[in-house]
Amino acid sequence: MNRIALSSYRRITVKIGSALLVDRTSGLRREWLAALVDDVARLSAAGTEVLVVSSGAIALGRTILGLGRRTLRLEESQAAASVGQIALAGAWAGELGRHGLTSGQVLVTLGDTEERRRYLNVRATISTLLKMGAVPVINENDTVATTEIRYGDNDRLAARVATMVGCDLLILLSDVDGLYTAPPERDANAHFIPVVDTITPEIMAMAGDASSELSRGGMRTKLDAGRIATGAGAAMIIASGKEMNPLSAIERGARATLFRPSPTPVRAYKTWIAGQLEPAGRIGVDEGALKALRSGKSLLPAGVKAVSGAFSRGDTVAIIGPDGQEAGRGLVAYDAADAVKIAGLKTSDIADVLGYEARAAMVHRDDLVLSARHPGKREVEGQNAQDA
Ligand code: GLU
Repeated sequence: MNRIALSSYRRITVKIGSALLVDRTSGLRREWLAALVDDVARLSAAGTEVLVVSSGAIALGRTILGLGRRTLRLEESQAAASVGQIALAGAWAGELGRHGLTSGQVLVTLGDTEERRRYLNVRATISTLLKMGAVPVINENDTVATTEIRYGDNDRLAARVATMVGCDLLILLSDVDGLYTAPPERDANAHFIPVVDTITPEIMAMAGDASSELSRGGMRTKLDAGRIATGAGAAMIIASGKEMNPLSAIERGARATLFRPSPTPVRAYKTWIAGQLEPAGRIGVDEGALKALRSGKSLLPAGVKAVSGAFSRGDTVAIIGPDGQEAGRGLVAYDAADAVKIAGLKTSDIADVLGYEARAAMVHRDDLVLSARHPGKREVEGQNAQDA
């Protein structure tokens, strides 16, 4: 099975389905939440930023209000969301607080992520929470969202949030443990798919339209989320949250489907990288690596000649060419100590030296912005137009 080192990711959005958090009769599954938050706290202590997209407001409100299983009218489910959300947010704040983590509630509507100005506003709020070390706990603002203008499912909402703030991984935890060639509850011959490189129409067709009773999102909305996330350069994992500590389970190799990020993503946060005022470190690269970077590749440890500065994974570093000039800036995927250990190594040797599987690139191309080059220099360096 895949063992996935979650702490090798820089920023992760974890989406939690209603059926995991809420039991129809007893309400909030507090022990499960506490165990999940243990996982979140561990990742956070390892330097990975975590955002939570938590469903469950309507389901929890329904239980608290004693509404049973009947179909709710719009205003009833909005009232249920109102009652449920306040309890849900309180539970998150309480559990994160046990680990000394602060949380901030963010409720968004579809319009908040679709309209540019509001989108930038939400993004700024979430980014600021992260900068302050708080864990954003996000849900759709179900109390005011109308039937026509709402996400309705938190899978796509989570994908939008993940791409908005440049997450490199989105994890969808629900009662399904991954993608199958057909909905497994309906087709006994369905077989499990561990890795998806590209979400093709054939992959989309595997989804069917099944959804569990408490949550709105079926496999279809999960694959829609996958398209959004991978298209923006983030990986996505669909995994079961039925067991306790589901994030630890993923790391131990529990069944899960990994969707690889698109090799040619579109990213808005490059401007943010380029705009960092003071890089935390410097990475010297050889001529071959520099050429590779300029043709759109990632910086691999093999091309690294020198590492300086006391940076942590996710910090901005300056990339220095053989001529001593800054060739670009990027978010580094390793702490300085590990970067020193693997400088000059082939990708295949990295796991042996570090003792864990991690992202191969020192600076991933998605996290990289090259400096504009002085026009005269190009001739001196003997490079051709293709590099420009
Ligand atoms: N926003 C809804 C809630 O909190 C959940 C939507 C979903 O299940 O995806 O109840």
